[in-house]
Amino acid sequence: MLGLMQQHPLLLSTIITHAARHHGRAEVVSKLPDGSLHRTDYATVEGRSRRLARVLQQLGVGMGDRVATMAWNGYRHLELYYAISGMGAVCHTVNPRLAPEDILYIMNDAVDEVLFVDLSFIRLAEALAPRVPGLRAVVLMCDAAEMPEIALPAGVALHCYEGLMEAAGDNYAWPRFDENTASALCYTSGTTGRPKGVLYSHRSSMLHAYAANMADFFGFRATDRVLPAASMFHACGWAMPYCAPMAGAALVLPGRHLDGASLVQFLNEERVTFAAGVPTIWLGVLQHLQATGGRLATLRRVGSGGSAVPRVMIEGLGAQGVEVLHAWGMTETSPLVTLNAPKPTTANLPPEKAMRLRLKQGRAVCGTDIRIVDPEGRELPWDGMAFGDLEARGHWVCQEYLNRGPEGAADAEGWFHTGDVATIDPEGYAEMVDRSKDVIKSGGEWISSIALENIAVSHPDVAEAAIIAARHPKWMERPLLLVVPKPGRSVVAESVLALYDGPVARWWLPDAVVVVDALPHTATGKLNKLALREEFADYLLR
Ligand code: ADP
Repeated sequence: MLGLMQQHPLLLSTIITHAARHHGRAEVVSKLPDGSLHRTDYATVEGRSRRLARVLQQLGVGMGDRVATMAWNGYRHLELYYAISGMGAVCHTVNPRLAPEDILYIMNDAVDEVLFVDLSFIRLAEALAPRVPGLRAVVLMCDAAEMPEIALPAGVALHCYEGLMEAAGDNYAWPRFDENTASALCYTSGTTGRPKGVLYSHRSSMLHAYAANMADFFGFRATDRVLPAASMFHACGWAMPYCAPMAGAALVLPGRHLDGASLVQFLNEERVTFAAGVPTIWLGVLQHLQATGGRLATLRRVGSGGSAVPRVMIEGLGAQGVEVLHAWGMTETSPLVTLNAPKPTTANLPPEKAMRLRLKQGRAVCGTDIRIVDPEGRELPWDGMAFGDLEARGHWVCQEYLNRGPEGAADAEGWFHTGDVATIDPEGYAEMVDRSKDVIKSGGEWISSIALENIAVSHPDVAEAAIIAARHPKWMERPLLLVVPKPGRSVVAESVLALYDGPVARWWLPDAVVVVDALPHTATGKLNKLALREEFADYLLR
């Protein structure tokens, strides 16, 4: 017997129509490249998104066509999110920080037809356009007075965003279609081989946004002011462009201004209550606060993930009255799967135990599930000790990659192999030990680089640290520690190594400490261990 309730497809356009109708005056503030501010609201964003959908139609974009964006977090990017997906096309958010060869690969793999570009990236667009045969048009995200010189090949039309908007009518009505229609496309950053396309659907993104709005997740309220410091080209800005308007919370978009000083000023001036981004960003914020004696006046909660949140970040932000929500996810999981929120059994632990727990990546949100398995695929116990390959499944987990067929696909039951190694404790809290390709195998035993890095960055003179597996004649691999000193400081190897005395087993101690000026990062702001291994893998053999 079927239920007798209404069936409305879960479409992303319904988020922005809801926000316009019920939270029409809620603000969307954007910091522009020159540092000036642009202010709008959800009613205006919705109207302009419909107008933009009409523009896309006039450019010949139809259902299922791929429209690429290369843009910072700003109001026009938000309009593109809703216009492209809302009309039934696919919003391909290109990460402009990827290597140009990788960008070419993904734009051709996606068969992007139209590219919307922020002025910061026009030289990149100019270089790419002749090598993307499917590209028909480039739209510069500016008004007519700002149009720069740009050379495009014959056959690729050049347009001005505001020029097109002015010419288009606004009598567009959002269409209704199957909720399983593709909505957005995001590529993994390709730290292991070529980037792979993850194709989200309206249904998966809607359910993901509802889950992100649960109280033990991001849990936005209409009174929140939300700053996504995660890029809108990185797993759809971790759902914030969807779950803030869904809740009626204001969106505060920082553009390219993600350094500590700019963020602190913007967070305070715009009275931001919630922000989320990778730990590197928050360590930058903390260093700025330390150097200036500044305060975070209104910020109350920070979501962070993408790499492990170190203890110094939880303590540093805690001292500012800010709670850190440690989350885990990946592009393939939309990205949110686990978040570290307390349970009755974990809410009142003594301080040291509480901190140990908070360093974990958390428990699965309803709508997803996780497990750890051994190399034969047998599930391992949730005892907080057994290490295994982490698998995830759920409504917003990738079943297969675009154009890759069975390669890397989830199994018949939906279990997706994440490439991470983790433990899960009896309360269901997962702790990442490593990416499987980063884990250090010393004499057949695993050493967690995450745990060792966490300890190194607690040293007062260390700004950033990386642990990599270095080849070793006896143990096959041993941990090698690379550290970047804080500005104006120097780091003595022995004083860093002394920190390991106690918290970890003696055989986990790094074999050597190398002081470097800077560490390489990937296009999503994480340590690029592949590059580090290329340079330092033989360090212990020298
Ligand atoms: P990319 O692979 O493009 O860097 P993703 O965001 O898809 O970007 O990366 C996902 C990976 O990031 C995860 O598989 C995991 O290795 C790592 N990661 C994400 N969140 C955490 C976290 N809280 N702690 C440790 N590692 C994390």
